[in-house]
Amino acid sequence: LFEPQDPAVAKKLAQKLIHLADSYRERTGIMPTFMEVCGSHTMALARTGVKLILQGHVRLLSGPGCPVCVTDQKQIDAMIELAESDDRIVCTFGDMIRVPGSKRSLQSAKTEGRDIRIVYSPLDAVRIAEENPDRDVVFLGVGFETTVPVLAAALQLAYKKQLKNFSMWATTKLVQPVLRTLLTEKHVKINGFLLPGHVSIVLGQHAYQFLVDEFQMPGVISGFETVEMLSAIYQLVKMLDADHPAIMNNYKSVVRENGNPAAQKLMFDYFEPCDEAWRGIGMIPQSGLDIREKYAAYNAKKKFKIEVGEPKKTRCRCGDMICGLATPEECILFGKACTPLHPVGPCMVSTEGACSAHYAYMRKD
Ligand code: SF4
Repeated sequence: LFEPQDPAVAKKLAQKLIHLADSYRERTGIMPTFMEVCGSHTMALARTGVKLILQGHVRLLSGPGCPVCVTDQKQIDAMIELAESDDRIVCTFGDMIRVPGSKRSLQSAKTEGRDIRIVYSPLDAVRIAEENPDRDVVFLGVGFETTVPVLAAALQLAYKKQLKNFSMWATTKLVQPVLRTLLTEKHVKINGFLLPGHVSIVLGQHAYQFLVDEFQMPGVISGFETVEMLSAIYQLVKMLDADHPAIMNNYKSVVRENGNPAAQKLMFDYFEPCDEAWRGIGMIPQSGLDIREKYAAYNAKKKFKIEVGEPKKTRCRCGDMICGLATPEECILFGKACTPLHPVGPCMVSTEGACSAHYAYMRKD
């Protein structure tokens, strides 16, 4: 486990938090339960031991903020199908390559000789397109509001260079619609949200006010260090105890009230809202971003008409995991048929997944 930057402050804060959570539970019979929206928080809470320390006092459930975990299986199948042609190069972020599709992963397709490359930025995929003018380069664009401005920058560059052989298979996700869906359709039983740090840099604090106005649900934006996370959870318990929900910004060094307008503009210059399928949740209206018609030549979904069938149901419970409806230990495959070496679902593949975090830092045996 990682040491906090200031162990004395962390210890004091944890004691105060546990005391308040326990007294709330004694008074109401309810254990405070919060959802960490972001996959980076899932990993940070496990790695720093915050989740372990709070066990039995505060319940922390993982949410839908790991981009790999929420990517619909059909998108992986479509990318594998695209990679079947020798005329194409498929580029993707590292985590996506090991996620199982219906029959195999991009990794196994690569092992079988398909040209599938890991890149650190979509701009690398644009460069690969320039270096390979005789082949089509397709980038699998996954991610939330944090990543979309970078995807837009890649489209901007490809458009500027008038590249004919670069396109993007965009399957991006938006945070606000999925939170609303969790509260209205999945009826997730929580008392508040630990709100994402990175996404909020782009969106800003204001973007979450609907949680209070429509659902009387508190939320605190947090950084990723032990003291920052403990402090944010303490604020959540305090608001719950006082029955005074609000959206608080505990990450003021980087998150502004209205976010980053330049990043938002870049994002919406190249993308527009669309209905999007989420793994384990299904289609959520207006919960994703697709490439604008003006840049349709760079939209791989339009350029290549790929049809894939419905994936078979498996016993993987990643869908429940990202909705806060199950914990890794509740999946019968956890640590047995499903391990980081042989992952069955994306929550075990991703470095931000609930199952991989639990396996690395919290499993009992
Ligand atoms: Fe899916 Fe594996 Fe997690 Fe179970 S342990 S939910 S199979 S990723």
